[in-house]
Amino acid sequence: MNMLLLHEGDFDGPLPDAGGAGRARVGGRRFRHMVEVQQLACGDEIRAGVLNGAVGKATIVAVGASGLEVELRLQSEAPPAPDLCLILALPRPKGLKRILQAVASMGIKEIFLIGTAKVEKSYWQSPVLDAGVLREQLILGLEQGCDTLMPRLAKRRLFKPFVEDEIPQLIAGRMALLAEPGAQRVCPCEVERPSALAVGPEAGFTPYEVDMLVTAGFEAVSLGTRPLRVETAVAALLGRLLKAGAGGA
Ligand code: SAH
Repeated sequence: MNMLLLHEGDFDGPLPDAGGAGRARVGGRRFRHMVEVQQLACGDEIRAGVLNGAVGKATIVAVGASGLEVELRLQSEAPPAPDLCLILALPRPKGLKRILQAVASMGIKEIFLIGTAKVEKSYWQSPVLDAGVLREQLILGLEQGCDTLMPRLAKRRLFKPFVEDEIPQLIAGRMALLAEPGAQRVCPCEVERPSALAVGPEAGFTPYEVDMLVTAGFEAVSLGTRPLRVETAVAALLGRLLKAGAGGA
């Protein structure tokens, strides 16, 4: 947790804007982390932000047994975000949590979790897919990356209607890339244009799915011939695609 991310319920009054100030109460996980892990105490100042709002600094003004109070001063807008839409075949639930935290920490704001032939059906029943659990992972990622803007996350279980009905609009005006081990074109670096990236499941996209995506306008790119774990591939692909220092990683 590199930034204290405050939510509406933490404030008594209205949420402060950029340039504004306010007082908030923090309990639960964030409180324990601040006191037990970060060993913060009264008077300490930390980075803070308001969910979907501005960022600034907070000073701890009171510490109790189950919560603490901070005075918040908001100084600037949330950091700019890369314009990259991530389309991810639903990974194994344990990996999904880590991937969502990682991509949120890298500033990704649009994520589609999709079904493909090789996504295990049971994954869709996992409690990790509950809205509250997904949201928690994204919040952990925002706290990690010192960002406040909540990514939009959508689930699309059926591959064909998603590609036929939604993809054309989704990738209009974007560079659309499909990650495939061994594809001839090497994944580009520091892409400046709006882009979309499709990443397959652990067992890969089927040839039929690759054909459909290519027909829809995706170009296959690779990080070499070694098939990487989805988690590793997503981090490595984003590490190449995002421009550091310009809303990127
Ligand atoms: N079982 C498949 C590998 C799937 S890896 C095979 O043997 O080919 C899971 C997903 O991660 C892939 O669908 C791809 O989107 C991405 N990925 C993994 N390694 C990659 C690489 N070297 N280059 C590009 N994408 C990769």
